[in-house]
Amino acid sequence: MSQNKIIFLDQKQIPTHYYNIMADSPVPMDPPLHPATKQPAGPQDLAAIFPMALIEQEMSKERFIEIPDEVRDLYRLSRPTPLIRAANLEQVLDTPAKIYFKYEGANPTGSHKTNTSYAQAYYNKKAGIKKLVTETGAGQWGSALAMACKHFDMECEVFMVKVSYNQKPYRKTFMKLFGATVHASPTNLTQAGRNVLAEDPDSPGSLGIAISEAIEVAVQRDDTNYSLGSVLNHVMLHQTVIGEEARLQMEMAGDYPDVVIGCAGGGSNFAGLSFPFLRDKLTGVKKDLEVIAVEPASCPSLTQGKFEYDFGDEAQMTPLIKMYTLGHKFIPPKIHAGGLRYHGMAPTISLMYNIGAISAKAYNQLEVFDAARIFAQAEGIVPAPESSHAIKEAIEQALKCKESGEAKTILFNLSGHGFLDLGSYEMYLENELTN
Ligand SMILES: *Cc1c(COP(=O)(O)O)cnc(C)c1O
Repeated sequence: MSQNKIIFLDQKQIPTHYYNIMADSPVPMDPPLHPATKQPAGPQDLAAIFPMALIEQEMSKERFIEIPDEVRDLYRLSRPTPLIRAANLEQVLDTPAKIYFKYEGANPTGSHKTNTSYAQAYYNKKAGIKKLVTETGAGQWGSALAMACKHFDMECEVFMVKVSYNQKPYRKTFMKLFGATVHASPTNLTQAGRNVLAEDPDSPGSLGIAISEAIEVAVQRDDTNYSLGSVLNHVMLHQTVIGEEARLQMEMAGDYPDVVIGCAGGGSNFAGLSFPFLRDKLTGVKKDLEVIAVEPASCPSLTQGKFEYDFGDEAQMTPLIKMYTLGHKFIPPKIHAGGLRYHGMAPTISLMYNIGAISAKAYNQLEVFDAARIFAQAEGIVPAPESSHAIKEAIEQALKCKESGEAKTILFNLSGHGFLDLGSYEMYLENELTN
């Protein structure tokens, strides 16, 4: 037997600090703007829906931010997650490249989302908040927040994008099991939802619409806050536990990645894995590190979007944020990677892309499912359709190495498992999926 395939850390090695990439960015970020006045939005503008501790993290330039003990203790339910050498996949591809992946599907809700839901619920609870309202696409974020709210004895209300609500009914069951109330968005419960339904009664919904509905509910009560599962700086920050762990694990494996890959919807799992490595590129330690965000060709915010101020939601309730965007009215096609159907990209990732520190790729649904099948058969894990975008690029990189004879080290994030996506796989296998 050769070396270990799975690299485990001890629970004592759960990171003590989050990493904030804005401490090492060579350029500052353009501030969010108030939606009405178009002036830079200050902490008080966000206080109606977020606790001050998260607003401070949102605006922080501190390099490392301590993780509260109570949150670290919750991470112990499933962290550190394994880093796995995809040796079987390497063999199938007959590549000289070494392929590693960080497996966030080992988390309780099956994806990386609990890394931030625990932290967000914790800071809200400390601020005296009784209820959190949110949106969810494929349902992973709603599941993670429902679980975190239950732990901290808070209510949780979720607006789930209608197309996913219908495609992934068991996600709804999961959320209900943890005590959450779940609606198929657009709903008749909010003005934002009613406006969309008046124009299109059959609207499949979008994350942008669901966010509008959730914010509308949250602003109505002092004891209720809004919670976002991706995009915002504090969410990227919380997810860096992934990359901080992966750094230690790569070190244990005696390797360092040449290429770091993640799928990107709002960008949180990609940022979570890549930012702690990108730190080495920004500070000159590893100047030639390649970092690649992978998105669906049908929702290509980085590769086709514009870098400009846009709203985070359909009804223009959020501050304007500077990001790569397809426009807040964009309704993405009903692809099965529901978690990647967002019109914009996280401001931190947008900034890194704009200065050329990272690159981006876009792939079609069918080639992504083809990659997922190759990976599943080789490694025995059914990947989430979202994560399969990262797999597709990892395979492309490995095949390039086969051609050139280079033995690069490739690291990608397997952001979640696909056990609740088997309906999509069934359609794929029956040739019912299209691009
Ligand atoms: C939510 C989700 C995504 C997309 O969100 P990001 O913020 O871009 O990470 C990707 N993969 C899985 C498994 C998800 O649950």
